[in-house]
Amino acid sequence: MNLILMGLPGAGKGTQAEKIVEKYHIPHISTGDMFRLAIKEGTELGTKAKGYMDQGELVPDEVTIGIVKERLSKDDCAKGFLLDGFPRTLAQAEALEQLLADIDATLDYVLHVDVPNEQLVERLTGRRICPTCGTAYHVIFNPPKEEGICDKDGSKLIQRDDDKEATVKKRLEVNLKQTQPMLDFYQEKGYLVTIAGDQNIDKVFSDIDVKLRGLS
Ligand SMILES: [Zn+2]
Repeated sequence: MNLILMGLPGAGKGTQAEKIVEKYHIPHISTGDMFRLAIKEGTELGTKAKGYMDQGELVPDEVTIGIVKERLSKDDCAKGFLLDGFPRTLAQAEALEQLLADIDATLDYVLHVDVPNEQLVERLTGRRICPTCGTAYHVIFNPPKEEGICDKDGSKLIQRDDDKEATVKKRLEVNLKQTQPMLDFYQEKGYLVTIAGDQNIDKVFSDIDVKLRGLS
């Protein structure tokens, strides 16, 4: 079961990844974890990647793709994997096709958790933080008992700059611009499965599960 999970920030991808991994016992391979492992193991590529990261530079695709290849070649991926956060660009998606062919693997599905933009904005701008104790609230999904006030210590809640509407919209726009060409690419290859992400968490998972059950 070789899967890619895609979705814009706020789509609930992380939650669904946890559920997929728990039910189907395949490794969850996020870009961050993959880099950390390569660096920890001190592989040649890991050392290269660390060099770029220490300089605050973007890790070039050839290094990233090499690290993905090392990771997908490990024994725990023999029965499948769930890639999350990779590929990030069309060029990486194309490189991944070649990489999988090199290790005699093919993708089964690219699961796209799709949530309308207005809803993503609503989800992402609703976060409020207590500056005193750090507790996170959400104006719709997890509101405090009294509006704008921390339940625990009565502090006035704040909205982080990252969660403000203009910033959120900009972030989504940049993400979508990178994601759309990949969605088109996978659609054309016949891997793309669009999952309606504007439903409750369990319903989203059951829609994913229906597709995956056919594979195992
Ligand atoms: Zn507080």
